[in-house]
This record gives sequence, structure tokens and C-alpha cells, in this order.
Amino acid sequence: MTGPAGAHWLIRGVRLLAGPATDLLISDSLITETGTRLSAPGAQALDATGLIALPGLVDLHTHLREPGREDAETVETGTAAAALGGYTAVHAMANTDPVADTAGVAEQIWRLGRAAGHCDVQPVGAVTAGLQGSRLAELGAMADSAARVRVFSDDGRCVSDAVLMRRALEYVKAFDGVIAQHAQEPRLTDGAQVNEGEVSGVIGLAGWPAVAEEAIIARDCLLAAHVGSALHVCHVSTAGSVEIIRWAKSKGWRVTAEVTPHHLLLTDALAASYDPVYKVNPPLRTQADVDALRAGLADGTIDCVATDHAPHPAEDKETEWQAAAFGMTGLETALRVVHAAIVETGHLDWAGVADRMSARPAAIGRLDGSAGASAHGRPLTPGSPANIVLYDPADRSVVDPAQHASRSRNTPFAGMDLPGQVVATFLRGEPTVLDGKLAR
Ligand SMILES: [Zn+2]
Ligand SMILES: [Zn+2]
Repeated sequence: MTGPAGAHWLIRGVRLLAGPATDLLISDSLITETGTRLSAPGAQALDATGLIALPGLVDLHTHLREPGREDAETVETGTAAAALGGYTAVHAMANTDPVADTAGVAEQIWRLGRAAGHCDVQPVGAVTAGLQGSRLAELGAMADSAARVRVFSDDGRCVSDAVLMRRALEYVKAFDGVIAQHAQEPRLTDGAQVNEGEVSGVIGLAGWPAVAEEAIIARDCLLAAHVGSALHVCHVSTAGSVEIIRWAKSKGWRVTAEVTPHHLLLTDALAASYDPVYKVNPPLRTQADVDALRAGLADGTIDCVATDHAPHPAEDKETEWQAAAFGMTGLETALRVVHAAIVETGHLDWAGVADRMSARPAAIGRLDGSAGASAHGRPLTPGSPANIVLYDPADRSVVDPAQHASRSRNTPFAGMDLPGQVVATFLRGEPTVLDGKLAR
């Protein structure tokens, strides 16, 4: 969608954050006007009656798999999936092959994102060289690179060495970086397959205790406080983790946290099917955990929703449970799952969803600031970059992975009847999705 009229859109009758219907004018990558009965000769009109507008979603936790596992996903297919899910920016995790532990690899991923054009790709840098957990990666060089890396994570693995974790937290203070921890005490989860509890006992798969997550989170909150640095906790999955983070925040420590859509909706009871589509790291937990995660997201203890989109080819998932890979796709269903788990249950309204899926993750990823036109997570007001998702909250449909743009099909929501539909996504005034389909 380029050409003289491509950057001018008049969106009619849309409800900003589900408020009253209004018109919204986009010119040259910015929102330029909102109000009733706007006119803009030459602009392309889009009738958005019944649709709500949210700021373009921002994912702090996406696995795009390129370079190295292009059979599972590429930057092109992963960002197409992101746009279809309403995202305008994703943070690409570092556990690729080669690992994103140098400025060169980070810049390569950043450039692939720009070339794909479906959404902005912000590389996450590895904390340790090769994710090996023995020495720090080139954090400063990645921060200084064209990709301007600010979030660092060994995700997929835990930075379990307390000294290395402390050094990493100290190092990133110089450039306002943040360490995103995959909280999993390795010895306590050796061979673990499913949440340790009633279900693991019944089905006879090795248990993954909540304490393996909570012990690392508690330690890292204390370390972040000790050195005065910023910690972000990936994919919080237990009620106890929510309590620890609530305590750390009450102290005024710089701790933020995310929860995945699947941990907000699904429980470990699904593991009783032995279907590896439900195998994920951290594992699905109990209904009491789900309830605590929803409450934590609603009261702001958990800052944001992040997908942990983890595509895997069929041969790695359609096998027996113990041999299957951990992970689920999530970009194309995240907003609809949050709609079902958080909005329909009365935990948050749409303004709250905009905060937890756009403004806060953009702030944690340092995408909200002075970078001007490339900023994300800004309010839908004149002067903001026109990063917008148009969503039909009245729609409902059954999730069909065959329709997904992701190269992988490992969604636990397949066959589920979910509310809502992403109708359009705009990235800096250009549609990446129109009528629920890719626009470019
Ligand atoms: Zn992880
Ligand atoms: Zn992950």
C-alpha cells in the first residue's frame, strides 16, 4: 500500500479504547486529528463502525527462530503473524543459531525485521556468550549497535549463576538496560515435564515445582535491589511468583513482569491428555495460579502480557510427551485470549488492555521514548505515530491453525471458540493488515 494516497486514512466511527465513536485521521505516519464528522479529501476511508481501536500491540517476548531454525519460523512469517495479531512491534528472543550475543547478529535480526516490514523487530541480546551461562555476552556493543539493544535475556535458559546475574544487572545500568530473566532453577527442574502437583502425580510425568520459579525470582529481586538495576521477569506462572513481585514492587524496586496468554487461560489439567501441544516452559499450572495471575495483571503487579510465541515444526511437537519440544505459538491469538481471560471476566477494560499490551511493554522495552516516529505504545492522540489495531469485539470464531501465517501450527487454542477478531493493523500510518488479511 504505497502511493500518494497510501499514507492518508480516514477511519470513521471507531471507538478509541472502546469509548464513544469518533473519526480518526492519519496523515504521513501520524495520527493528526480525532473528532466527529472529519473530512479529508483524498484520504482513503475505512468504515470502522462497531470496531474498537487500541494502540499497536507490543510483544516483549517472541521467538522468531531466524537465523538457524527457519523450518519453524522466519522473521517474515513471524512478523506477519504478529501483524495479524495486532502487533506493531515485537522483541525477538536471542536463542537463535547463531545466538544473538554480538552486535553483528543483533543488527542482522534488526535488518531482517525492517526488510519484512510487517512490524518493527527489536532484538533481545543474550546475557551470556552462547547462552552458556559462563561469561557475559557483548552487552555494551549490542547496546551501541544500530539495533540499540536494551533488553537482554538468556531466555530458554535461566541465568542461574548469581554472580553473573549480578554483573549483568550492574552492566546494563550504564545504558538504561534491563535483564529479562527466564526464572527456572535448573537443578530443581532436571527432567521436569509438567507442573508438580495433583495432575503430575496422576499422569506420572516428572513434576516442575513452583519453587523452581519462585526461588529465582526472589533471588533476582534482591539482586536488582542490591545493585539498583532493572529486572524484568519473563512468563510468570505461579501465585507465589505474583506475591514475591508484589512485595518487591512495594519496596520500590525496579522489577517488572510479564504473563503469557496461555498461562492466563489454560491449566495443567490439559496435560492429562498427554497431547504435547500443552507442553510449555514454564508449565501450565493450576486454576488457583491462573486466578492469581489474572488478579496480578489487573492490579498492575504483573505489568504486561507477552506471548512467548514459540513455534516448532510438527516433527518436534507431534511425538510422545517426553520427547516433544516445549512451547506454543501465540501471536495470532493473544488479543483474543486476553479478551476471553481478562476482559470477559471483568478483570480489565479495554483501556487496561491497551496499557498491559502496548504502553507498558513499550516502556519496559524502551520503545516508548524520544525516538519520535519510531516510538510505540503511545496514546491514540494527535501527534502520536499511527500504530493502531482495529478490533471487532463482537466477532467470535473457532481458532483454525491452518489459517495462521506462522510457519508452525503448535497452538493450544486450536478448535477453541474465542471472542474477537483483529480487522486491521496500521504501522506508522501504513496498513499491515486490512479486512483481517495481510495488506502487503
Ligand atoms: Zn522462557
Ligand atoms: Zn521464551
